[in-house]
Amino acid sequence: MRVLVTGGAGFIGSNLCGRLLNEGHEVLCLDNFYTGSKNNIEEFKNNAAFEAIRRDISEPFNIEADFIINLACPASVPHYQKDPLKTMKDNVYGIFNVMENARRLKIPVLHTSTSEVYGSPSVHPQPENYNGNVNPVSIRSCYDEGKRAAETVMFDYHRQYGTDIKVIRVFNTYGPKMLENDGRVVSNFIVQALRGEDLTVYGDGKQTRSFCYVSDLIDGIMLFIEDKSGFTGPVNMGNNYEFTIADFAKLVLSITGSKSKIKFIELPKDDPIQRNPDLTLAKKTLGYNPKVSIEEGLKKTVEYFKKVVKR
Ligand code: UDP
Repeated sequence: MRVLVTGGAGFIGSNLCGRLLNEGHEVLCLDNFYTGSKNNIEEFKNNAAFEAIRRDISEPFNIEADFIINLACPASVPHYQKDPLKTMKDNVYGIFNVMENARRLKIPVLHTSTSEVYGSPSVHPQPENYNGNVNPVSIRSCYDEGKRAAETVMFDYHRQYGTDIKVIRVFNTYGPKMLENDGRVVSNFIVQALRGEDLTVYGDGKQTRSFCYVSDLIDGIMLFIEDKSGFTGPVNMGNNYEFTIADFAKLVLSITGSKSKIKFIELPKDDPIQRNPDLTLAKKTLGYNPKVSIEEGLKKTVEYFKKVVKR
């Protein structure tokens, strides 16, 4: 297939481009390079099956493809909060542009939504039929509500025009090709540990997250692409091994062997207290089963950051 990957130079996007190329697909990588990086796609530049296109998802486009995977949106908290109106446009105008292109070509779209659609959940772990606890006017809303609106747009295209849709709710994912200054907890802690700086735990560190190694998420995306049952999702993907952030900081210190200390600083506003995916639906419908242990995934990610972090 010729696959259009929007946000293809980002962390997940570039890992996915690599996998698609390995499996014999042609890849069109669309990115505005706001948080995507040319370094992430450097290794594909001499591959005739790969093409990078500088384009902003919030502007209409006509690109011929057989399948679209939509990943285009700044995804880390500091990056999506830097220009919240742009984040909302990337989500909402972006999904209209993607869906119009898909409707014109009559091709399927796989869209990466987020665990943030559950907001600060009051149900734990979160199944897909939990509708969430989301504040429409918080500093996280541009992302949370933008992603919720994008899901709405997708399902309305599906109902109104019969467009073939596949919606994944991605939970916290980490691995090589995250940006050094991404701002998410995994990259922050690893970079701080490698530089011998204090690890910045926000709040008391009792909030929880579950971390998925990127290859496990990519496996799930590939299973969903190949699924011909008409299953639309939304379906959770991630790993359901849950950590408090304070314990996670200790694990990063032990894996890096760093002498850094842990420093507790102010908790950002509206930070969800717990998050853990219910993976029952993904297992049942797609056979999704994350395999990489946190120790193994962190070791690979630390090796990557050792090569790129300026110390
Ligand atoms: N966090 C932290 N220190 C950091 C970055 C994040 O303690 O340097 C915490 C953050 O408050 C949140 C969790 O780690 O509770 C995950 O944050 P991240 O930004 O990675 O993703 P989120 O799940 O909040 O979107």
